[in-house]
Amino acid sequence: MPIHYSIIDLELTHPFKISRRPTDFLRQAITVEIDGGIGAATPTHFYGETVDTVQEAFEIFNPIIDQFKDLDAIQSVMSKLDDTLNGNYAAKSAIDLALHDRLAKRLGIPLFKLWGVDPSQTLHTSFTIGIDEPEQMQHKVAQAKNFPILKVKLGTEHDLKIISKIRDITNKPIYVDANTAWSPKEAICKIEQLESFNVALIEQPTQAKDLLGLKFIRENSKLPIFADESVNRSNGIPRLAGIVDGINIKLSKCGGLLEAIRMIHVARSHNLQIMIGCMIENSISITAAAHLTPLADFADLDGNLLVSNDPYSGVTVDRGKLVLPDQPGIGIVKQQS
Ligand SMILES: [Mg+2]
Repeated sequence: MPIHYSIIDLELTHPFKISRRPTDFLRQAITVEIDGGIGAATPTHFYGETVDTVQEAFEIFNPIIDQFKDLDAIQSVMSKLDDTLNGNYAAKSAIDLALHDRLAKRLGIPLFKLWGVDPSQTLHTSFTIGIDEPEQMQHKVAQAKNFPILKVKLGTEHDLKIISKIRDITNKPIYVDANTAWSPKEAICKIEQLESFNVALIEQPTQAKDLLGLKFIRENSKLPIFADESVNRSNGIPRLAGIVDGINIKLSKCGGLLEAIRMIHVARSHNLQIMIGCMIENSISITAAAHLTPLADFADLDGNLLVSNDPYSGVTVDRGKLVLPDQPGIGIVKQQS
């Protein structure tokens, strides 16, 4: 069997809550190895995936990958997987990452050289503050002093108090992510008030499928509106032109690096801005995603920093700026335990 995998329960440095998952829950990363290439993904209930569905997908993918004579042909492999099984994008992303890592290692070059991307052009990542009592969120902001940009999760009864408390202690740029929590009218009202707190952008203010609601919010708000839950893959981007200002691309949501790059090109062709985001994941996925940031406008790649038992290291963060490793492949190193 070409796909070897292991499942890791991710332990978090703090409980992490968002509006559509108000109670904390177990997050599990799946780490994959294919012929020396390493990949990983974190399945998300919201997108219909669990570690069980990922393992079932691997059972289907194993004979397909086994029969490929040339695993360097990543485009062909991933197309075949897409033709065989719909969805299952976290499972596909783990495989896509492993094949990219494998190919770049075989060529003896870092992944960014495979794409001709300038590693000095990586972005600064935001640091995410999960939902909590306003005083606790203020406290978490105070602890995040090394990060020049914040992403603040909202969708509570005291959203404005949270931002007000944070603004009492810092002037850093803030991205607000409501994770689908607001009605369109509520969103317009809250965004108008958030303008005075120097918020930079609003992510997914309302329900994922409510594109008319997103359009209504954008037409009645001064802040840029970004879609996250409303868009998974490149074929969902054209309908968002004129509806939002930008999109959030995540590897575990779209199926891997090939599709993420396709999304970047499609988004650019529709004059949409691009954020590279993540789930709470280990350093394998985050390092792979960091390689995309020279092609994007915003980065929210702190998922590994919220994990206390990450056995890998790769991308590092220097006062918020993502620093890519220069080893061959994605550049992941497993820590000695
Ligand atoms: Mg989001």
